[in-house]
Amino acid sequence: MPTGYWETEHLLRPADITVVGAGIVGMSTALHVKRARPDDRVRLLERSPLSSGGTTRNAGFACFGSAGEWLDDLDTVGPHALQELIGMRANGLAELIGLLGAEALGLRWTGGWELLSSSEADTRLMDRIHADWKTLQDLAGDPLHAALGDLHPAAKAGPALQWDRDRAEALGAAHAIHLPWEGMIHTGKMVAAFHRALDQAGVQRLHGVDVKGVSPSPNGWALDTNVGRLDSHRIGLCTNGLAAKLVSGLEVRPVPNRVMVLRVAPGTLPEGTYHIDRGYLYMRTLDHQHVLFGGGRHWGVELPLPPARDEAAEAQWDDRLLAASGHWVPSEEVTHRWTGWLGVGPDRRPLIGESQPGLHHAVRMGGMGVAIGARVGRDLASTLLEA
Ligand SMILES: Cc1cc2nc3c(=O)[nH]c(=O)nc-3n(C[C@H](O)[C@H](O)[C@H](O)COP(=O)(O)OP(=O)(O)OC[C@H]3O[C@@H](n4cnc5c(N)ncnc54)[C@H](O)[C@@H]3O)c2cc1C
Repeated sequence: MPTGYWETEHLLRPADITVVGAGIVGMSTALHVKRARPDDRVRLLERSPLSSGGTTRNAGFACFGSAGEWLDDLDTVGPHALQELIGMRANGLAELIGLLGAEALGLRWTGGWELLSSSEADTRLMDRIHADWKTLQDLAGDPLHAALGDLHPAAKAGPALQWDRDRAEALGAAHAIHLPWEGMIHTGKMVAAFHRALDQAGVQRLHGVDVKGVSPSPNGWALDTNVGRLDSHRIGLCTNGLAAKLVSGLEVRPVPNRVMVLRVAPGTLPEGTYHIDRGYLYMRTLDHQHVLFGGGRHWGVELPLPPARDEAAEAQWDDRLLAASGHWVPSEEVTHRWTGWLGVGPDRRPLIGESQPGLHHAVRMGGMGVAIGARVGRDLASTLLEA
């Protein structure tokens, strides 16, 4: 493959632009490119039936970080880059809403909360948050207002962070910080909306195509795949954590994250999104009887890359998640468990560039791809169109 006349002459003839990886970034890139140049042949290749990274497996937070996460970033990248990062997330969400529409995303501006316990680590974190409160408010407030001021009902509420004693009391937390700009999407609806938009725009979306390597060819690039060689003038690589397998030297690696859905007594958790342990743990309401609880990558449990599995390690991770969730929401049953994969690197900034002429990449979304993915896709599309 492709060997038949209809395949080589038409269906799989060389593309103008091939995007590899149908996650949020790849789908946004392909959509932007095709909408800008309807006559170009734009192909989107994905190795799995839906997607196998984070895009169909995330928690659906439409979020920009929390005080605890921002302090980590402040220490690693400094105030300027942190503000840029918050701006990218806020702009990314605005971009996603513009691409697909708030209703199609199942977007709800519920607000989020950062919960702090009375543990030693959280008490230390609390002291730091107090000390840097104004800095954080200033750094986050401006980009949130600038990007979402016209879209968000919280725009009038003003600050990025607010103490919330009632929520702390309701959940037995030592402190709760309200994040009024935060919201949640329905991840399944977002992916379905992307698929509709891509099909409508005329992007050729091929699932089940695993790209094993890319190499320069006289007319651009050749992609070596499980279904044979495919040609393209340019390539946009959006394979996130796995990108270094195709372009060596990219500073990104795949990291697993575990998630579970808990059935709880009705109304156990007030509607919203919640950050715990500087965002390494998180929970959100799905409906009044189901809570999604996940995270724990800071525990360092290792899992093999799919399709391999280590069920003992998964069970160990799940036991820890269940114990952690029990602190906040007593559950009656675990109804779903799964692993998703993140692309991470030395800091939380995405990696966008061109490693060789015509071979572009946009990877390393960290745990924030829902927020920044569409914006990163737009940036990659612009460079692909300029090339
Ligand atoms: C459990 C979990 C919870 C998360 N929660 C949130 C959240 O609440 N809010 C938020 O903003 N972000 C969240 N994230 C992060 C977010 O989901 C990711 O940052 C985002 O989905 C990354 O999108 P992407 O397009 O870069 O990569 P991916 O979604 O990983 O997509 C890359 C695609 O490339 C495909 N691919 C890889 N290699 C090849 C190849 N060689 N050939 C063909 N295809 C290939 C993969 O199958 C995959 O579908 C979460 C992530 C996880 C794992």
